[in-house]
Amino acid sequence: MSEFDFDLFTLGAGSGGVAASRRAGAHGAKVAICEDVRVGGTCVLRGCVPKKLLVMGAHFSEDAEDARGFGWSVEGARLDWRALIERKDKELDRLNGVYLRMLRDSGVTLIEGRGVIVDPHTVEVAGKRYTARHILVATGSAPIRPEIPGVEHVITSDEALSLPELPKRLVVVGGGYIGCELAGVFRAAGSSVTMLIRGDTVLRGFDDDVRAALTLAYRKKGIEIMSEVVVRDVEREADGSFNVLTKTGDTLDADAVLFAIGRHPNTRGLGCEQVGIKLNELGAIEVDAQSRTAVRSIFAVGDVTNRLNLTPVAIAEGRILVEMLFNRGDGTMDHANTPSAVFSQPPVATVGCSESFARAAHGEIDVYVASFKPMKHTLSGRDERTMMKLVVERSSQKVVGLHMVGPDAPEIVQGFAVAIRCGATKQDFDRTVGIHPTAAEEFVTMREKRPDPVTVGT
Ligand code: NDP
Repeated sequence: MSEFDFDLFTLGAGSGGVAASRRAGAHGAKVAICEDVRVGGTCVLRGCVPKKLLVMGAHFSEDAEDARGFGWSVEGARLDWRALIERKDKELDRLNGVYLRMLRDSGVTLIEGRGVIVDPHTVEVAGKRYTARHILVATGSAPIRPEIPGVEHVITSDEALSLPELPKRLVVVGGGYIGCELAGVFRAAGSSVTMLIRGDTVLRGFDDDVRAALTLAYRKKGIEIMSEVVVRDVEREADGSFNVLTKTGDTLDADAVLFAIGRHPNTRGLGCEQVGIKLNELGAIEVDAQSRTAVRSIFAVGDVTNRLNLTPVAIAEGRILVEMLFNRGDGTMDHANTPSAVFSQPPVATVGCSESFARAAHGEIDVYVASFKPMKHTLSGRDERTMMKLVVERSSQKVVGLHMVGPDAPEIVQGFAVAIRCGATKQDFDRTVGIHPTAAEEFVTMREKRPDPVTVGT
């Protein structure tokens, strides 16, 4: 008989924790997972899934407008926001049930409550102690709330995804993934939206052409983007609306104020420091290439490690780790060339590096850019363009960056991500026959290089 209650004890039943626990169960390990909220985690309950349902739900406003250009009469189309929220919640309940069933079918014991690590092989949940050969921390992250007066009046993505009423005027602070995605949802749903960005524009870290294309698209939709603005204070008015005061003395009126300024790893109260798990300056768990913490028997995956905070990455990290623990895998996760998307409207998708990163990391590069009106909008009349871009290392001709802003970008880039992972060259792209007529074919028909930037001699 084993000296431990479990082979693996996982803290946190989100994407990473559930994937790792189920895979361990499939290898015959005795597994427990604890969760203090509902099974499913951020992605299923407060992130990717509800967000995408709202993106789809809100986007019908544009579909209805576009249909007119194709001869349809679409009169009186109107969104019942409350109905959308209710239906989305029903779907989340269904998914929660699916997750519970999947855990049960994999033989994983679900323990309800918040786990605290007591020693390298012991976790305490709701006053009861459990021992395990391996402990996995997969407790995810939560939205950062600003440290300003009036913080009690602001909402984060947690609340924004379940707002009972559609705000007439929404102020969004932050221009990252969540700020851009939710600004798009609420604008399409009918809110008047103002984005406040502390830097020069949205999506820092993304390719500059992507940032410019989304900024232009959002401005055309009527989203006001105010750059270099920092919020000082949020005040509540007697009528329930809010005043957003900026450091430069401006005041904006709003019915809801959404802060999307990043997320912090959920490590508070876990007992990390007491057992010797090292945290970095952001409070994230430090792990090595095999997701091992400073304590040999304790591992961590997903947002709590703040490596690449994406659901499929957490799932991959969890599965690769479990293959090492129970099936002789080497445990190393390769984070390079991970594709990602921003479900803005239009969406952004990207794999590999930006042009500016490539110039620094790959020396001489070739850049190919296309900007065109999608075929649908030749009839719909919508003033919106698609942007597609390839960044190629000149010496090897390897495609090191692929970027798109436009309808279906995430679906298109997912496929091209395989080619990038396989090290495809520009000539491999050129040899590939396009599917006509699509937007995606543009990636295999780009011929004209963008001229090199002029460097001023000394
Ligand atoms: P991001 O890190 O993507 O963006 C944060 C934004 O807030 C930036 O514009 C940043 O500005 C700004 N900001 C940061 N601190 C402050 C501050 N104190 N005051 C004002 N502005 C500030 O965070 P998000 O919250 O949007 O998303 C968190 C993470 O969740 C993402 O990074 C991503 O990993 C993940 N995610 C992924 C999604 C997807 O895959 N589609 C969807 C949603 C989330 P600056 O640029 O100047 O730093």
